[in-house]
Amino acid sequence: MILIFLGPPGAGKGTQAAHIVSSRAIPQLSTGDMLRAAVAGQTPVGIQAKAVMDAGKLVSDEIVAAIVEERIEEDDCAGGFLLDGFPRTLAQAEMLDAMLRKKERVLDAVIELRVDESALMSRLRSRIAETKARGEEVRKDDNEETFKKRLEVYKEQTAPLIPYYEKQGKLKVVDGMGSVEAVSAAIDAILDEIRP
Ligand code: AMP
Repeated sequence: MILIFLGPPGAGKGTQAAHIVSSRAIPQLSTGDMLRAAVAGQTPVGIQAKAVMDAGKLVSDEIVAAIVEERIEEDDCAGGFLLDGFPRTLAQAEMLDAMLRKKERVLDAVIELRVDESALMSRLRSRIAETKARGEEVRKDDNEETFKKRLEVYKEQTAPLIPYYEKQGKLKVVDGMGSVEAVSAAIDAILDEIRP
């Protein structure tokens, strides 16, 4: 099963991705995690991406698409995968379409986690507090100013993917405002319908 998760920062994509990974036994491919690993490892991509990420802006389509293309060729992606944080622009969506076509693979669904914008900032504050309580380091782009920029970027560059996938008949909208369990159950119901 090949899935895409769409939703603004703070929508709960990471939390729900963990649920799908365990219930459907497919890997979560988070481009944000991959880029953060590249930054930590000071690879050429990481060195190039760091400043852009710290500013809450988008890394170039070519760089991110190349990372994804390489990753989906790995063995653990043979039975499918969940894309989290990719595609994020129309150009990336077109690159992904071309990639899948070339590999003769089919996208099953795009799950959009829809949440009220007013809830996002309080979710960010909770995420920061929880990370600190665990004694972990808070992501450099998880501060209110950069978060606002990321939200702006989402609205301008990523939200156009909603009609794009709607036209392809792939879009499934999930109300992301309920409890974690309620949102997971709504996602399960959609996935069961696609592939019982
Ligand atoms: P995330 O963990 O998904 O919130 O991503 C963190 C940051 O990584 C983003 O704010 C971007 O700077 C970068 N990033 C992640 N995925 C992409 C993508 N598909 N295209 C461009 N930049 C990305």
